[in-house]
Amino acid sequence: MLPEAIWRIVKANGGSPPLTYKKFLHVLSVLGEPEKPARDVSIEDFQRCVTPVDVDRVYAVPSLAHLGLQVEAEVLWPGGESHALQRLEKHFQSQGWVANFSKPRTIPNSLLPSTTGLSPYLSLGCLSVRTFYHRLNSIYAQSKNHSLPPVSLQGQVLWREFFYTVASATPNFTKMEGNSICLQIDWYHDPERLEKWRTAQTGFPWIDAIMTQLRQEGWIHHLARHAVACFLTRGDLWISWEEGMKVFEEFLLDADYSVNAGNWMWLSASAFFHKYTRIFCPVRFGRRTDPQGEYLRKYLPVLKNFPSQYIYEPWKAPEDVQLSAGCIIGKDYPRPIVSHIEASQRNLALMRQVRTEQQTTAELTRDVADDPMEAGLKRELREEEGLLEEAESKCTSKRFSGSSDHKSRPCSWTPETLQLSELSGEVM
Ligand SMILES: Cc1cc2nc3c(=O)[nH]c(=O)nc-3n(C[C@H](O)[C@H](O)[C@H](O)COP(=O)(O)OP(=O)(O)OC[C@H]3O[C@@H](n4cnc5c(N)ncnc54)[C@H](O)[C@@H]3O)c2cc1C
Repeated sequence: MLPEAIWRIVKANGGSPPLTYKKFLHVLSVLGEPEKPARDVSIEDFQRCVTPVDVDRVYAVPSLAHLGLQVEAEVLWPGGESHALQRLEKHFQSQGWVANFSKPRTIPNSLLPSTTGLSPYLSLGCLSVRTFYHRLNSIYAQSKNHSLPPVSLQGQVLWREFFYTVASATPNFTKMEGNSICLQIDWYHDPERLEKWRTAQTGFPWIDAIMTQLRQEGWIHHLARHAVACFLTRGDLWISWEEGMKVFEEFLLDADYSVNAGNWMWLSASAFFHKYTRIFCPVRFGRRTDPQGEYLRKYLPVLKNFPSQYIYEPWKAPEDVQLSAGCIIGKDYPRPIVSHIEASQRNLALMRQVRTEQQTTAELTRDVADDPMEAGLKRELREEEGLLEEAESKCTSKRFSGSSDHKSRPCSWTPETLQLSELSGEVM
């Protein structure tokens, strides 16, 4: 049975969930504001409660030391409602920041979260989404102007509700098979490359740093999620979004099945997202907001002595530079597992074919708008698109015929055969 709030949305949409964010916003505008959060409980509510046992002794929460776990020096994401509310208030103190929030302008590789960082608290139930929503509205009410969905802070939380709504009324939402809104794609089965992606060994520092942050800290910025999800699926490795979703579920503190699956379908262009010709470059994407590579140096200390010029593509560094950085590519840090330009070209052709063959499914979740999160990245994405198209037009059609051996060998060469000189100039 659908939860009451979702049932109302589905009913107002004629008995099925709105499959685009735009339609979803339209339905919400008809339904009006969500309910206010339940009032806070106070000590008075418990005055007449009597417990038959000594709760503190019998049901006390065991300490980590008591469980035999080592206590980390720094707790980045302390749990509980008090911490959630503190974090909320800290951000909401700055009325201007809240009112002008625009997701694409936030930075994926800043060393501290550039967005609210409230997702673990929302997904673990430490923070009521209604509290978040109405607190936000009270700030908007005091502001002359404020940003709007999809890029505003309110827009962010509505993405959450959008995916919840579609997921609750779509059978097999977390799978490709039997999922009516998801393109059926013949992804490669490549456990070895999947493992390299999972363990931050792709040889692309931007991708590996993000995967390291994910594994160590359990949270990464939204655009960093874009980068690694695109790389795993339609961008470079052509591995199923379901595999990526499982890895995120394992490591994310905010792992939330509908939001996770919905975003993975989006990033892999299996549903919702349609500008599939835009593929993130695993070199330029990160460099845009962090040209010195501070983020890479923090999460991949093995590369920390590389000059900024080479830190995003260390395989291009001459041997003497590698030697003085104390890191030999291929020995201390892996070579790239794919040639980005070759892999993304081939994948683009495959995706084009899939979408032509399954146009009816693709249309189901098609929003006319661009991906709002990529607004700030448009120039890079267009350049990348241009490079791919140019390269594609130079290629023989045979290479992209989708026939023969592409399953067993997703790239035309293996990492073992790759020499530094072969890669220079290819990745960009
Ligand atoms: C491949 C992929 C997988 C993801 N998996 C998850 C997941 O399992 N759980 C999860 O909570 N978010 C997921 N996200 C969405 C988003 O990246 C995070 O919600 C956001 O980065 C959390 O940081 P924040 O709290 O600072 O967000 P803010 O920008 O401060 O946004 C406030 C809140 O809005 C919601 N929100 C923001 N962006 C999205 C979005 N794109 N979709 C749905 N809700 C959103 C979150 O609840 C977030 O806490 C995923 C994104 C991608 C690309």
